[in-house]
Amino acid sequence: MSIQLPYERPFIQKLNTGSMNKFGTKTEFAPVTHLEGVAVSKIIKEYGSPCFVISERQIRKNYQTAVRAFKTRYPKVQYAWSYKTNYLSAVCNIFHQEGSWAEVVSIFEYKKALQNGVDGSKILFNGPDKSTEDLELAIKNNSLIHIDHFDELYTLVGLLEGTEQKARVAIRVNMDTGIYPMWDRFGFNYENGQAWNALIKIMAHKELELVGLHCHIGTYMLSTSAYATAAYKLCDLAINLKAKYGLAIQYLDLGGGFASTNTLKGSYLQGADIIPQIDDYAEAITSTILNFGFSQDELPTLILESGRVLIDDAAWLVGSVVASKRLSDGRRATIMDFGVNLLFNAFWYDYKISPAQEFTHHTEDMVIYGPLCMNIDCIRENINLPLLNKGDQVVVHKVGAYNMTQWMQFIQMRPRIVLIDMQGQTHVLRENESLDTMMELERIPTHLQSSKING
Ligand SMILES: *Cc1c(COP(=O)(O)O)cnc(C)c1O
Repeated sequence: MSIQLPYERPFIQKLNTGSMNKFGTKTEFAPVTHLEGVAVSKIIKEYGSPCFVISERQIRKNYQTAVRAFKTRYPKVQYAWSYKTNYLSAVCNIFHQEGSWAEVVSIFEYKKALQNGVDGSKILFNGPDKSTEDLELAIKNNSLIHIDHFDELYTLVGLLEGTEQKARVAIRVNMDTGIYPMWDRFGFNYENGQAWNALIKIMAHKELELVGLHCHIGTYMLSTSAYATAAYKLCDLAINLKAKYGLAIQYLDLGGGFASTNTLKGSYLQGADIIPQIDDYAEAITSTILNFGFSQDELPTLILESGRVLIDDAAWLVGSVVASKRLSDGRRATIMDFGVNLLFNAFWYDYKISPAQEFTHHTEDMVIYGPLCMNIDCIRENINLPLLNKGDQVVVHKVGAYNMTQWMQFIQMRPRIVLIDMQGQTHVLRENESLDTMMELERIPTHLQSSKING
């Protein structure tokens, strides 16, 4: 009996033999069989494929490193965890246990922080969309309301008018930091005087207690000088408040935006080699504030709302090869059981992917697709990897930021998320979705309950 192999048309392949770069060769190909001592194959066997895996150890380490970078340079530092970056309660609670407050941008996140047990006075409420009811709740809980626009300011004034209540507020300031396009859709502009205008309006209302100045100048910022500029402009507003009203501002909030070690699409160099270190950001920000001329007893607290830099490298996505095929132009294509439905940020990042088992040394440039029946579902347009066969397992690195919040239930269900704790034990943080999960929210009108095909 002869077994006929499937026909593949021959093609000519460019081999990059021995081409060294400054990162050495083939570093991408080292198999990653274990995550923090736990076998990838075991994770997949127990929790399914694909599956997100989070490291408690790495989160705590990242947090402590980030705090140290600022606290060694400045006496009063407070972090507030950016919920939208990853709002799994277990993840948020790791940050809270380490000392972090909560930074939220919606009432959903706000209520989640309360439910996690965060004291209302330690929640920073950001974002352009806070309803009257949302603001009422934030006032009642003594939260820090970061006003985004004049309509929000007027709503607050209206709410407090004739009551004994006060609201603790800050304004979000947007400014030219030399990075374009400017994020001027959020907050009040510094250069055209709008921010100052908002501040004098707040000072005219004694029911509004102005406690801080906030900015968030962008995300994955590669320039530390942009932060020096932002800090300088916030300090300038603070000093003017002191001069005109005698008000010593309690805090300056420099937002988030520090880059993680992921590699941006189209970047020639690896992310890890070009991004500033947290120490560099810290140096730029703290030296600007310390140089500005605040009196020692009136130094404002420095608040930071870092998201991606604290969690990106603390999570992986493990998954499996669905199929390997050849495209019409001869390129190898590998289809995975995860796609842009789970890795939304694959639109910006070239995620590093490692095989999770030993392999031959033959490698090939290939495109990595997800399982969706949709052309945009591409995880890597071009990556050099060993040949991967159906059933082989892979690890996608540094997926902790924004994927577990921006993922979409499209065609496929969302998979499990597990945590590896400090002792190397695994815990489910979120169950996988099922048909039942979907149907729980659906309603079918009586006349549409029959699916009988007529005709
Ligand atoms: C998203 C966001 C953050 C976190 O940003 P990263 O780039 O993830 O550090 C912080 N503050 C505000 C207001 C945000 O919207």
